[in-house]
Amino acid sequence: MQVTEDIHALKIPFKLRVGPDKTVDRFVFAYLILGDQIYLIDTGVAGSDAIVLDYIKKVGRDPREIARIVFTHSHADHIGGSRALKKQTGCKIAAHVDAKPWIENVDRQYAERPIGNFYDLVGGSIKVDTGLKDGDQVDLGDGKTLEIFHTPGHSKGSISLLYNKGMALFSGDAVPKPRTVPIYEDVTTSIQSIKKLKQVKGLKILMASWDDPQFGASVYPSMDAGLQWFQQIHEAVLAETAGLDTLDPEALSARVLKRLGFPEIPRVPIVIRSIAAHLKLLDQQDLIAD
Ligand SMILES: [Zn+2]
Repeated sequence: MQVTEDIHALKIPFKLRVGPDKTVDRFVFAYLILGDQIYLIDTGVAGSDAIVLDYIKKVGRDPREIARIVFTHSHADHIGGSRALKKQTGCKIAAHVDAKPWIENVDRQYAERPIGNFYDLVGGSIKVDTGLKDGDQVDLGDGKTLEIFHTPGHSKGSISLLYNKGMALFSGDAVPKPRTVPIYEDVTTSIQSIKKLKQVKGLKILMASWDDPQFGASVYPSMDAGLQWFQQIHEAVLAETAGLDTLDPEALSARVLKRLGFPEIPRVPIVIRSIAAHLKLLDQQDLIAD
């Protein structure tokens, strides 16, 4: 799907295992910037290399023109296809320095953040050629740049990237879509990261990994909706913990998700951890007020 003159979005489907015999259908967006060379923002899961390469050929370009893949963060659904793409194109890899350990050693990522079918989603570890930090600029040539904003919370090494041509922001998983399953490591830094992105003036497009691109007047309200979603989850945690002394994270997670109206309760560690991340904030009512 073409988003602007030179940005294209690829919606990549995958299955996430949430129980011994149960999977849920999910998707993730990867983005292509087609300039003199080709730049990729994330790759999608293992096997997505075929989707990416087919698309590049379909628009009349040569896959060997891929110069660089920049990861918004280290998770399997964002880096999964990169090993195969690098093998076929020789492209370079860039990511935030804090994301490197889990990209360069996916066994470590799995040990520290287990997901049922992790090894189906990721095509293996890959070396990061360029470690990025907040404020860095990735030069795309012709005066075009990607400015790096460190936006942790969903993960330590999460970044958002501002493409100066068209003021388009790639936010990865930093800005959640309301009503989507909570997946983050830290609530406070997640909220600070969205507020940091709100300070970037003049944004015209917001491209998150879990949502369709947002244009014009809906960009900043999407960020506010993400903040509100954190607050709603927090209020559900406050309601479900009121008057309780002992708290089992799994039971709490199930109750919170039920209260939030999820028809099925995903009993997966990454979701339980996200809900449990609110437990150190029980003395705070309003997490998002300035
Ligand atoms: Zn993620």
